[in-house]
Amino acid sequence: MPSDDKYLARITRMIDRGVGKRLTFTRKNTNEGEVLQHTPPAAGEMDAEQGVYIEPPKALPILASCEVLVVGAGPAGLSAALAARRAGADVVLLERYGCFGGAITTVGMETLAWYRYEGTIESEGIGVEMERRAAAMGGTVKWPYNDSECLDADFFKVVADHLVRESGIRPILHCYAVDVIFEEGSNRLKGIVTESKSGRQVVLAQRIIDCTGDADIAHLAGASYRKTPKDKMLGMTTVFNASGVDKERFLEYTEAKPATYADWSRTWQQQTTGKEEVLRSPYLDKEFDEARALGVIAQDSTNLGGSWSSLTEAGEANNLNLAHMYGYDPTDVMDLTKAEMQGRAEALQALMALKTVVPGFEKAKLRNFGMTVGVRDSRKIIGRYNLTGDDVKSQAKFDDSIGIFPEFIDGYAVLILPSTGRYFEVPYGCMVPLEVDNLLVAGRCVAGDMVSHAAMRNMMACTVTGQGAGAAAAVSLQRNVTTANVDMADVQQELQRQGVRLH
Ligand SMILES: Cc1cc2nc3c(=O)[nH]c(=O)nc-3n(C[C@H](O)[C@H](O)[C@H](O)COP(=O)(O)OP(=O)(O)OC[C@H]3O[C@@H](n4cnc5c(N)ncnc54)[C@H](O)[C@@H]3O)c2cc1C
Repeated sequence: MPSDDKYLARITRMIDRGVGKRLTFTRKNTNEGEVLQHTPPAAGEMDAEQGVYIEPPKALPILASCEVLVVGAGPAGLSAALAARRAGADVVLLERYGCFGGAITTVGMETLAWYRYEGTIESEGIGVEMERRAAAMGGTVKWPYNDSECLDADFFKVVADHLVRESGIRPILHCYAVDVIFEEGSNRLKGIVTESKSGRQVVLAQRIIDCTGDADIAHLAGASYRKTPKDKMLGMTTVFNASGVDKERFLEYTEAKPATYADWSRTWQQQTTGKEEVLRSPYLDKEFDEARALGVIAQDSTNLGGSWSSLTEAGEANNLNLAHMYGYDPTDVMDLTKAEMQGRAEALQALMALKTVVPGFEKAKLRNFGMTVGVRDSRKIIGRYNLTGDDVKSQAKFDDSIGIFPEFIDGYAVLILPSTGRYFEVPYGCMVPLEVDNLLVAGRCVAGDMVSHAAMRNMMACTVTGQGAGAAAAVSLQRNVTTANVDMADVQQELQRQGVRLH
């Protein structure tokens, strides 16, 4: 039996804990560090009828305060943070994984500019700068059929570290945005709640840019959005890399059996402008039928087929974009769980097929999967302006243009490559949510219909909206107006100063 004193002290602690009193225990242990203990939460309430648990109120430490907070560090987020910083703002860039780069570094998607066939009028700005910077640092391999560069996905983590460090952006990695904070009695955001190994914390910001790909912040703030119905959503993909590939033998094979973009639609109806049908494409598809016929892979493995990308002298075939999954919602944790596990199984079948039927792959091994399953399609905000496929196809012009993007559409059975020099202007309005202020949304979740999404989801387009949002957030602060009320002439002046082509 413990002594009475110890017993009473323990009971007192239990009572204090029950009423939510903050307790700190620190016992000294000179050899192995202090023995520490976190104060556990007071009990909340279960509402069995609603199937919810009601958390007790809790004091959250403030992790950081800044002028511009960018949530998500993919092509859009990196560009937003750099642009805001270059416009003079104090910027925090917050990312849930341990690296910057988004789909580039976490999915393994290296083809930033594969659409750049002869004749393309390119967006000018941070996207092209990132491609050139990666090349200058030795982190790229030429794409097989034009002069664009494939970004080495792992090396790009280092490129992005450099960009962040030298610009003076304040980085926070391994940190998930899970809720938002409004200014009292207004529709203006003033911060977010985060979760990480450090617990639940707060980041305060005068302007927030949502670059999560899934419009997480806009959604949490109650902004309206659209999600493509599950049965029409673009598929998710588990990208993988292989080692042990005989590059020369494989290239001989692709010359002997050349693929074009016409091959993409062997099993579905695809809309093109005709010119795409004759352009060479790094595509593998019939090979999987062959492997099925040989009984090497399962008969129901029908979602295999797609592009290969860079081949290295070290015998690596990277960015194998071959194993797709449909009918999963990327904002549903259980769907994501299933897609991750199915994706790995499908990717291994794809590798087995390549080893069996594609010359050069006989000794290939799995080198790695992307860190996460790749998501193409998710929430898209309802914006002040909602882009349309017609805007993309008819060279739309906008007074509030924040940049241009070539007429490049890839998705929902439309494939148009920008080899004609046609391009459209990207309006500020597609980043402005209707119901929430001091929040901009950039990247693949900007406002628009399905066909415009098939243009705006491309990484270079995401850098255009990222840069536009970053500049606008910083300018709105300088002019002391909200992001909904910022004067476009001021924003455009800043973007031109940053080297962006607006018209
Ligand atoms: C398999 C596949 C192939 C593709 N092929 C190409 C291609 O060849 N060329 C091309 O241009 N595009 C391609 N795309 C599309 C392109 O990769 C994406 O649309 C683009 O990367 C989107 O950029 P983003 O910055 O909007 O979002 P993402 O790149 O998705 O970045 C979002 C970032 O936000 C972080 N994040 C998300 N939620 C939170 C949160 N709550 N808190 C903190 N951080 C968060 C994520 O971890 C991520 O780093 C492909 C996509 C896929 C999946």
